[in-house]
Amino acid sequence: MPSSTRTHKITLIPGDGIGPEVTAATVNILETAGKQTGCTFDWHSYDAGADAYAKTDEYIPKALYKSIEENRVALKGPVTTPIGGGFSSINVTLRKKFDLYANFRPVKSLPGLKSNYPNIDLVIFRENTEDLYAGLEVMINPDIAQSMKIITRKGSTRIAKSAFDYAKKHGRKKVHAIHKANIMKLSDGLFIKCCKEVSEGYPDVTYAEHIVDNTCMQLVLNPYQYDIILTENLYGDILSDLCSAFVGGLGLVPGANLGAECAIFEAVHGSAPDIAGQDKANPTALLQSAVLMLHHIDEAETADKIQAALEKVYAAGETLTRDVGGKAGTRAFGEAIIAAL
Ligand code: ATP
Repeated sequence: MPSSTRTHKITLIPGDGIGPEVTAATVNILETAGKQTGCTFDWHSYDAGADAYAKTDEYIPKALYKSIEENRVALKGPVTTPIGGGFSSINVTLRKKFDLYANFRPVKSLPGLKSNYPNIDLVIFRENTEDLYAGLEVMINPDIAQSMKIITRKGSTRIAKSAFDYAKKHGRKKVHAIHKANIMKLSDGLFIKCCKEVSEGYPDVTYAEHIVDNTCMQLVLNPYQYDIILTENLYGDILSDLCSAFVGGLGLVPGANLGAECAIFEAVHGSAPDIAGQDKANPTALLQSAVLMLHHIDEAETADKIQAALEKVYAAGETLTRDVGGKAGTRAFGEAIIAAL
């Protein structure tokens, strides 16, 4: 047992759909690993979305905002966003409220999983606060709806800087800015102008620009040509789901929403209501998001321990969830990782 103990206050949002199941598995694994490395977690848990509204009349309770402000780190499960009406996305609201402008999504193959695309290792930097996600929509008349795409110099420059700083720090060689500036000449035009300007400060990193539709084809033909994908909010969302398929699907890809003041760690996937409450969900994506969180709070040893146990379970291939070809449930998979720690 370690001689000293470090305690981390973390805001926890289990979410809904498969959220509570993948969160419970993740929390158990973190607590077990923490016992081995000398860190403990003081979880401050809150509902958000429809569940919170039923209890507090608020979709995002004030106490949750306060908790994130104080702790500055949150681990979040998915929260369902109603389609075509209802309340605004909780995920988008939190990202905007805390100005979490950089959505960092590493897409990396795990050992043992069969795929048409082995050894994938690419990173997506998605702008997280602007674009069509600004939520500025109006009905011009009953037959015409208008949605406004907001792209700013500030937003584009800071996400580009995040991508290039990451490239420099981690020895990545290439950044591709993904856009549709042939059609959206002003908005996407401004985005790539800012990316190009930032790239000039990083002569050791190759900079290229690809149009988003071509990028989809290029990714499917040869994803290995990409190292870091730097893009706007909507393209980043779509390309993340596409890239998740290279490494086994949405159950695997983690994410971090990073700002100057705080960070929220959450999986790329949504609440997957089709499999909710059935012990079928794969907690890997949230667990790997928690691994990113552990690095963020300087718990590299705990992070590495968990990642090693996860890779051991995948390499053995005996206790995997159905989405990646196994037969195990969420709980059994979580227990296998705990056993591997
Ligand atoms: P959102 O728009 O809210 O991000 P989405 O459209 O990306 O959501 P998801 O809810 O993420 O959709 O799920 C899409 C499908 O992927 C689900 O129906 C489910 O079958 C599968 N899926 C997603 N996450 C997982 C997971 N953790 N484990 C297993 N299957 C998953």
